Order: sequence, then structure tokens, then C-alpha cells
Amino acid sequence: MSDPETGAPGFTTHEVFNQPPPLADYDVFASDRALVEAVEREGGLWAKDRLSAFGRRLGRAETIDWSFQAERNSPVLQTFDRFGQRRDTVEFHPAYHQLLALAVDAGVHTAPWAEPRAGAHVARGATVHMQCQIEASVQCPLTMTYGVVPALRHQADIAAEWLPRLYSRHYDPRFLPASEKTGALMGMGMTEKQGGSDLRSNTTRAEPEGAGGPGAAYRLVGHKWFLSAPMCDAFLVLAQAPKGPSCFFLPRWTPDGQVNALRLQRLKDKLGNRANASSEVEFQNARAWLVGEEGRGIPGIIEMATYTRLDCALGTAGLMRQAVAQAIHHARHRTVFQRHLVDQPLMTSVLADLALESEAATALALRLARAFDRQDDPSETAFRRLMTPAAKYWICKRGITLAGEAMEVLGGNGYVEDSLMPRIYREMPVNSIWEGSGNVMCLDVLRALQRTPEAGEALRAELAPARGTEARLDRFLERLDSTLAARPGEAQARRLAEMLVLAVQGALLVRFAPPAVADAFCASRLEGDRSGAFGTLPAGIDAAAIVERAAPAIA
Ligand SMILES: Cc1cc2nc3c(=O)[nH]c(=O)nc-3n(C[C@H](O)[C@H](O)[C@H](O)COP(=O)(O)OP(=O)(O)OC[C@H]3O[C@@H](n4cnc5c(N)ncnc54)[C@H](O)[C@@H]3O)c2cc1C
Repeated sequence: MSDPETGAPGFTTHEVFNQPPPLADYDVFASDRALVEAVEREGGLWAKDRLSAFGRRLGRAETIDWSFQAERNSPVLQTFDRFGQRRDTVEFHPAYHQLLALAVDAGVHTAPWAEPRAGAHVARGATVHMQCQIEASVQCPLTMTYGVVPALRHQADIAAEWLPRLYSRHYDPRFLPASEKTGALMGMGMTEKQGGSDLRSNTTRAEPEGAGGPGAAYRLVGHKWFLSAPMCDAFLVLAQAPKGPSCFFLPRWTPDGQVNALRLQRLKDKLGNRANASSEVEFQNARAWLVGEEGRGIPGIIEMATYTRLDCALGTAGLMRQAVAQAIHHARHRTVFQRHLVDQPLMTSVLADLALESEAATALALRLARAFDRQDDPSETAFRRLMTPAAKYWICKRGITLAGEAMEVLGGNGYVEDSLMPRIYREMPVNSIWEGSGNVMCLDVLRALQRTPEAGEALRAELAPARGTEARLDRFLERLDSTLAARPGEAQARRLAEMLVLAVQGALLVRFAPPAVADAFCASRLEGDRSGAFGTLPAGIDAAAIVERAAPAIA
């Protein structure tokens, strides 16, 4: 419609202007310099073309539209069919399936296991980072499948049958025995009503059908209070066997072609992560097979959680990146008081501060992914042991605050669902809570320092190349050394985890980031008059250069 008086296109009463174009049809990978450089640095250079192809596919307007459809049309539990027979299935919107098919095709679930090579976990890490930017809900079954593979390998017979299915690049959502499908995904069930962090309190009972032992069949009776992605083809679950907490492989269908006795009670009504179903479930004599030794379930679960915690850090770094990209994109197109928002000095400071946090998170998460690539290197293993819980804690904590501030950059538009910002804001806390909440992560950092003497040495090795190059970093590292020497107790564990992360992030940025980024990080995170709010960078920072670097370019 055009204006009747002027003939200009628009509504009858006004013309729409000063609104940014959507951030769509762009390469989520190539437009993110911090991510591209981190991938190159950490050994994923060979994957750049395929990462760009995935980045372009994710950044398409069509894919972004799927994410909104999946978010708006939450999964629905089908407990019974119309005749009263149990169904225990979940119906998802077709857009959810399309998104998951895209991710499985890109190998987000198991690529480093299926095609191992140097830098494979880094390259996959970049796919997680990007996937979570466009739709984080589908990441849950992908991450769980990634995490179960090393645990499943402890049980050769199950691994031989199931790993080829998990390595498949075909997403097959049909509710059929896995043997009839072209690909499979897996979930995990640990948390019960009385305890999630304290897994020893699990009450689900496992009785052997015969003599028991590794690979033998058991019957499970009990419940799980959170079991996400219940349409997965199988789950690793924790249950009390005669010799203590043990890890079990529980398929949705038993080998004789019957639906296993896994009863979905209801779906959680969650703050965010809405396109993904999280269920409450009962095991009514469900059949499951022991993975590893009886009584060794907790170490098995912890091994799995190391991988899922890496994904919490990677995924949150991706969510941060998307929030910052949206904020800078908006500010570059929006004019207030005769100037683009991005050029208003206080807004430039806010955007630069957000971009710093995002780049530091990306640099650390990809550095951590490299430690997962170097499993035969004891120093990298010790680094991973210490820094995985620390990174999960601090990156996820910062993500929650960052999402609120980035939303505000868009003003009222940011508070509206169409902008993507509410979804990012709701999604952030879940990465902090699941797979070990904040306190649990910080206590794990303490435990790593106490029980893995090589962890301190690995940390020193990581920081050594940066020492002596930047005075503010050196002073911070001295404070960290004193803090470590004082052997902080539980009540100080959060500050310790934060310091460890800031030290590693600072060292990475000083060594590899442009001077403006490294300078601002040292000035605002490592010393000075620190504020809890974003947009409080000290004077003298080249905020415009930081924002320019972080700006997403539309192809
Ligand atoms: C959306 C969503 C999906 C989930 N999906 C799954 C799933 O698929 N499978 C699954 O098994 N679980 C799942 N979970 C559960 C999740 O992993 C647990 O909620 C989490 O591990 C915390 O356990 P809890 O809820 O029992 O809390 P609690 O263990 O009761 O912890 C409550 C608080 O106490 C803190 N705390 C615990 N111990 C200590 C201590 N010693 N000192 C100080 N503070 C402490 C924790 O950090 C936390 O903040 C999901 C959760 C959510 C929100």
C-alpha cells in the first residue's frame, strides 16, 4: 500500500524507517572472526570450508524460520492412543526434525568419534557454537549422543552394535527398533526427584535377569525426574545394582521387538529450551544392559559429563556470540539523536564490553576442545580435567548476564519474541544448571587441584608463553599463584574458578587477539575498578575497533 498523499510505499499513516534489516542469509562461521581464528589456532583449519557450508546453511532465513516454528510449537506428549493403549511418544513440529536433520548431517552428534583426526573435536566444537546460535534446543540430544560414545566403548558388545548407528549422518525420527532405522541418537538419565548433584542417592533398582555382570540384562524399577529428548533410541541411565550405582544401556525397544517399559509421565514446562522435550519417566521393569562393572556407574557418568560440560561452554559461547551479533547489527542500523547507535560513545562501550566477553568465551571454549583432541597427551588431559568445570561455571554465568544486556541494546524490540533475544535469554541459565550446576562445578575445580597434581602443572604450562608479555596479566597471575598457594576452601571455590578462567582467557587474548581486544580485557577483567555491569570499560580503550571486529557481515 502507498501513502495516498505522497505516493511513498508504506502504511496509510506512516512510512516504516529506522528499523534494521533482519540478520539473515549470512555465513554464521565466516562472519565471526573470533571463531574463525580460534578454529585455525586450535587445529581445525582443515575444516574451514565445511564449517562455512554449515554456517551458511544455518544462517539462511529459511533455517532461522524453522527455529521460530520449533520454538512456538512445543513438543506434545502422547501418553495413550485413542483406545487407551500406552504410546509414550512425543510429537514434535516438523521444523524441529528439519533442524535436527541438518545438525546430524553436519556430524554435530558424533563426527570426532566417527572420523577421528587431529582437530576433530575443535571442528565439531565450532559446529556446536554455531548450532546453538540458531537453535539451541536441538543441541541437547546431539550433545548427549556425543557424550555417551566414550562410555559405551567400555562395553564392546553394545558398542559394536550401536556405535555404527550413532555415527550415521542420517537423522531418522521414526519410532521403530533401532535395527530398522538409518540412524540413532541417545540420551541420559541420572537425575531423580531426591537428587541430581548427589547421584549416590539414586533409588532406581536394577536386578540381574541372570548371573549379572558387564553386558548382562537387568530389570530396572524406579524413576527419573529429568530425562530430556525422550524420543532418543536409547539412554545411558544410572541405577542401584547389587554392588552399587551402575551404568545401564536402556533402549526404547527391546531386542525382541517390544517397546521397552519406559513410561513417560509428563513433559516439563520449562523456562526455555522449549523446542526440546524434557520428560519425567518411570521404569516399570524396563530391560537394560550393564555397561562396565557393577558399582562403577558414577565414574562412567562422570566421564560422559566431561564431554557434555564442554558442550555447555561451547554452546553458551555460541549463544553469547549470537546475542552480540544481533546487538551490533541493530546498533549499526538504528539511529538515535541523529547518530547511529553504534557510534554513541556509551553504546560503543557497552557493545565492546559484550564483544570482549563473547570473544574470551569463544577462545577458551575452542582451546578446551583442543584438549579433547589430544587425549594421548597427559598434560592436555590434566588441563581438561581442571578447566572443563571452571569454563562451564564461568562462561555460563557470564552468558546469563550478557543476554540481558544484549537484549537491551535492541530496546523494546529486544523484549519481543521475534527478535530472538528472549529465546537466548531464556536458554542461558539451563547450561549453568544441567550437567553440574555452578557450585558443583566449582567444587569439582577444587577436587581436580587436590587429586590431580598434574593439573597445576598443566595450568602453569598453558600460562607460561604469555608470562612477561603484559604487565597487567603478570600481576593477575601472581595473585592467582598466591590464591592457589593459600589452598582456598569450598566457600572460596567460585572466586578461584573465576580467576582460573580469567587467567587462561587473558593469556589466550594477549597472545593471539588484536591489541585492542587484549588491552581492553586486561584493563577491565584482570585489574582496575571492576564493575558487575557491562559498558563500564575504562577510558583509553579502543572500543570502536573491538566492535568493528565483532560486527557480523551479511553476505
Ligand atoms: C532443562 C533441563 C533438562 C535436563 N535434562 C536432564 C537429562 O536429560 N538427564 C538428567 O539426568 N538430568 C537432566 N537434568 C537435570 C539436571 O542435570 C539437574 O537438575 C542438575 O544436575 C542439578 O540437580 P538437582 O536439580 O537435583 O539439584 P540439586 O542437586 O538439589 O542442587 C541444587 C543446588 O545446590 C547446589 N549444590 C549441590 N551440591 C552442593 C554442595 N555440596 N555445596 C554447595 N552447593 C551445592 C547446586 O549447585 C545447585 O545450585 C535437566 C535439567 C534441566 C533444567
